[in-house]
Amino acid sequence: MGKIAVVGSNMVDLITYTARMPGPGETIEAPRFEMGCGGKGANQAIAAARLGAEVMMVTKVGDDIFADNTIRNLKESGIDTRYVERVPGTSSGVAPIFVEPSGENSILIIKGANALLSPADIDRAAEDLKGCDLIVMQLEVPLETIYHTIAFGARHGIETLLNPAPAPTDLDPKRIEQVTFLVPNQTELATISGLPVNSEAEAETAARALIGRGIRTVIVTLGARGALLVSKGEETRRIEPVRVTPVDTTGAGDAFIGSFARYYVENRDLDAALHKAVRYAADSITRPGTQKSYASREAFEAFCA
Ligand code: ADP
Repeated sequence: MGKIAVVGSNMVDLITYTARMPGPGETIEAPRFEMGCGGKGANQAIAAARLGAEVMMVTKVGDDIFADNTIRNLKESGIDTRYVERVPGTSSGVAPIFVEPSGENSILIIKGANALLSPADIDRAAEDLKGCDLIVMQLEVPLETIYHTIAFGARHGIETLLNPAPAPTDLDPKRIEQVTFLVPNQTELATISGLPVNSEAEAETAARALIGRGIRTVIVTLGARGALLVSKGEETRRIEPVRVTPVDTTGAGDAFIGSFARYYVENRDLDAALHKAVRYAADSITRPGTQKSYASREAFEAFCA
């Protein structure tokens, strides 16, 4: 079936539901609290694993209870956690989120141990990474580590996918040229290309500009409008969306990437994998939550039938 490595982040969401945000120096009581596993890397790994992929994750956690929670969560989905390293004296990645009755979210992100994932960590995992068919990355870990991983993939003939999220302001286009797939959403594409991306036509122009700078294949996710596949020397292909009634769109991009990776490594059929990915992401937004909303393989097959 093919093996996927995710080199990326993990976070624990600490969600407080409150009537309002406290003012400076004020203490107020909030009615409800919830914890959830997140981080773009972990989300993508979980989506791929739920669909039956063999997945290993290369990431770092702190030495706190959030680390235990993250490792248990990954293991429960059958993800190989041998390269999930605990860093003494550091906090795990956490995201305190405050949700007000209007639905307005205020979010703080503490990267914690994610900020310490280094090129040396990639080298330590090298032998196992060489056994993978696709390495999937995002940008919640240091850029140097991402550049190093892309170069590693190119050197060893392993395909790589970069989801440039959150939208980077200091990405060096030269150092991501060798990536096999660049998968931005519209905001990320606009930031990287420096061009406006408010329509499908503008998305295509911006993706073509990146191809002009050396990237081979850009897959742009377009929210409710599906996705675009823009490859060097080929005509642009549009992947039609699936109509659903959205309940919660958080984590749709991660569902798209995890499922794309899962179906792509099966037999390297790009069109078939994109067709599945728009369906998996659409299905995920019909339920609340991020990882909680990712369907199992059986449930997804039923959705597609
Ligand atoms: P992100 O979550 O990173 O902002 P997008 O909004 O582009 O990314 O969504 C990723 C994918 O999720 C889209 O390509 C599409 O397949 C699916 N999707 C997102 N929103 C909708 C929607 N309202 N209806 C149907 N599919 C959607």
